[in-house]
Amino acid sequence: MLSRLRSMKKLEDLIFTYKDFPKKGIDFKDVLEILQYPDIFQDLISKMSSSNFLKNAEAIVSIDARGFIFGSAVALESSKPMIVARKPGKLPGHLLTREYDLEYGKNSLSIQSNAMKKFNSFVIVDDLLATGGTVNCVSRLLQDRRKEVLGLITVIELSKLKGRSNINFPVESIISL
Ligand code: AMP
Repeated sequence: MLSRLRSMKKLEDLIFTYKDFPKKGIDFKDVLEILQYPDIFQDLISKMSSSNFLKNAEAIVSIDARGFIFGSAVALESSKPMIVARKPGKLPGHLLTREYDLEYGKNSLSIQSNAMKKFNSFVIVDDLLATGGTVNCVSRLLQDRRKEVLGLITVIELSKLKGRSNINFPVESIISL
């Protein structure tokens, strides 16, 4: 019974909106419920892994923290290596760091220079594209070191925020809200 109910669910039904989180005026889109439905999660990862620009990339870079969930699954599905872009204070070793503006505040992201050095072309994976500030931070970290960014793969795109127009490579989003 439970499995029948689970299979009737759709990806869109599993994205919950939390009003005024983490601060007033933000409609926070939570993707974590997807992980409780392996069939839907698998289908989502197959779709995310089928983009053409991923085939040509040497590696995936996934973004802290929800991007890691989808990035690692896409890395396994597509047999690509993955590196990570993390928030401050999380990564050891020599780091390349850049600040960026969020829909709700400021932050910075770092990539380990040893990890970045091994690859020349990347696809970025994250859970959600809002203004594009986060993705731009990662792409600038890479492009400033003459690495190629072939595209962004994301579960959700908040199309009214027009993040896509701030990005100079193709975007593949599974759900546009
Ligand atoms: P942005 O830099 O504005 O494109 O914001 C994208 C990043 O912030 C992603 O890593 C998301 O996890 C997070 N984020 C921004 N806005 C939201 C939102 N409304 N709901 C959920 N996550 C968000």
